[in-house]
Amino acid sequence: MLRTDAFQARFETALAEIAAVVGPEHVVHASDEVEKRARDIIPRAYEPVAFVYPGSQADVVALVKLANRFDLPLWPVSKGKNWGYGGATPARQGALVMVLERLDRIVTVDSEMAYAVVEPGVTFRQLHRHLEDQRIPLWLDCTDGPADGSVMGNSLERGVGETDYGDHFGNICGLEVVLPDGLVARTGGGPFEGYKSWNTYKWGVGPYLEGLFSQGNYGIVTKMGVWLMPKPEYFLSCVFELHREEDFTALIDAMRRLQLGGAIKSKVHIVNDVVTFAVVAESKDILGGEKSLSDARRADLRKQFNIAPWSFAAGLYGTRAQVQANVAVIRRELGPLGKLQFIDDRKVDLIKTMTKALRKGAAFGPTRVVAERFSRRALGKPLAFLEMIPHVHAIEKGYPSDYFVKHAYYKSRRPKPADDDIDPGRDQCGLIWLGPMVPLNGREMTRVLDLVRPLYKKYSLDFTAALIIGNPRTVIALMSVFYDKQDADETRRAEELYFEMGEVTQRAGYQQYRTSTIYMDRILAPAPEFLELCNRIKRALDPRGILAPGKYGIDATPRAPEN
Ligand code: ADP
Repeated sequence: MLRTDAFQARFETALAEIAAVVGPEHVVHASDEVEKRARDIIPRAYEPVAFVYPGSQADVVALVKLANRFDLPLWPVSKGKNWGYGGATPARQGALVMVLERLDRIVTVDSEMAYAVVEPGVTFRQLHRHLEDQRIPLWLDCTDGPADGSVMGNSLERGVGETDYGDHFGNICGLEVVLPDGLVARTGGGPFEGYKSWNTYKWGVGPYLEGLFSQGNYGIVTKMGVWLMPKPEYFLSCVFELHREEDFTALIDAMRRLQLGGAIKSKVHIVNDVVTFAVVAESKDILGGEKSLSDARRADLRKQFNIAPWSFAAGLYGTRAQVQANVAVIRRELGPLGKLQFIDDRKVDLIKTMTKALRKGAAFGPTRVVAERFSRRALGKPLAFLEMIPHVHAIEKGYPSDYFVKHAYYKSRRPKPADDDIDPGRDQCGLIWLGPMVPLNGREMTRVLDLVRPLYKKYSLDFTAALIIGNPRTVIALMSVFYDKQDADETRRAEELYFEMGEVTQRAGYQQYRTSTIYMDRILAPAPEFLELCNRIKRALDPRGILAPGKYGIDATPRAPEN
């Protein structure tokens, strides 16, 4: 960006005023520090001009007023760990990233009405610990993403978790918002204080406005109600492995029937083999020194690891009788298609004890071979696969962990760090996600896979998919593009694949459920009337365009796309 002396002087005055609001220790503009904090895993991102960390809602109000005075665009994030879509980086050049992590109070937990009210900085790990420590019989829904990601950021971006409460935006109720001019308002149409149903009745009264603050740029959310699951009387996790690729269409149709009928309500992720390899194995063992997997190697690895072409885990919640009735329906639908396992807490404890003992043995040379052989003979799987089962079981109970985030290291040149030291941004992993929404039927799903599979081949990257059942009628076909960020040519191919997949699927009628900062200028292009409506609302609420310009392509003053 062209920086004149006058621009620089004005920017420095603005920074001094910002420092006076939040304290100088909460403003970061030294270029090396900004670079570190802005590290992203998508192929390209704009570095912010600075980072600011407000400590209260009053700070946020002061900052938006200041931003209007200085025409300084602000890009709010809660934690900035939205890996694969854009972390702590804006959609346009010249923005200052406002990280809301210091606003980290759990304001309320109502155990009777089963909800919490949280501030932006509250993480999945923090809320989960709070419920455990206080022995509150409520379960959280987390994602398989970072445990230190925020409950709010993921919900506002309409992230999808794992359990029956996995539609995160669907389970929020009641927002408190700072508008771009500093007005503080609450959604729901009730009085600011003493509104009894603010966090219990999602629609409130009057226009339903909560949607404005999700995937939009009309306000900064400072409080959010989130519904939680009452701890069920009985719980089982279920793991399914498809025997034959040819039965894929039948599997998807069976999943629709199971979801519509209610036997499975959790947000099932049907993952292909590469996702499983990436979770359980090290990059060098998967790729064997090559840059991508040949069909032959892939088939060989499946055999070697005994991993199905597609598999999924689900959670079953309710009374024992309800869960058992659902197990019977699931067996009837899926039994003929693959291997089903139902796992309770006792079985998981057994697996943990066994794998721990085997792992201990595996630390020593010869016993390593024996341990691995035992694992495969007795249990039919490599040790690392068995070690995954307790993590799968736990996440279906709302235990956040970074275990699954490790798969972001698939094309990384460094080995995966320990479970408590996972940081894909710091470690320069390469991953971007594209998630077309597809009607939940086998015909449609097969069509989309037939569109994208050849594109992965064209760009010599590995076809990697997690089909997330967003609701009983829609599957989010989450395509991962893994690439080696230290390889400029592969990074370029990853970006080209990503854009081409986006265009091809959009043209065929499959819009994405959420997008990355580098796709935002394209995402609403096929819907110009809708975009114009969004821009008109933007002009009304934020005429100077200081809040997250370019978020989902929305601007006060529409401009030519930068991408
Ligand atoms: P995470 O909590 O996973 O780190 P982020 O904080 O990066 O997620 O949030 C994802 C996106 O959601 C941000 O880029 C931003 O556009 C939006 N967002 C997050 N928190 C807020 C908020 N409190 N108010 C408005 N928008 C937000």
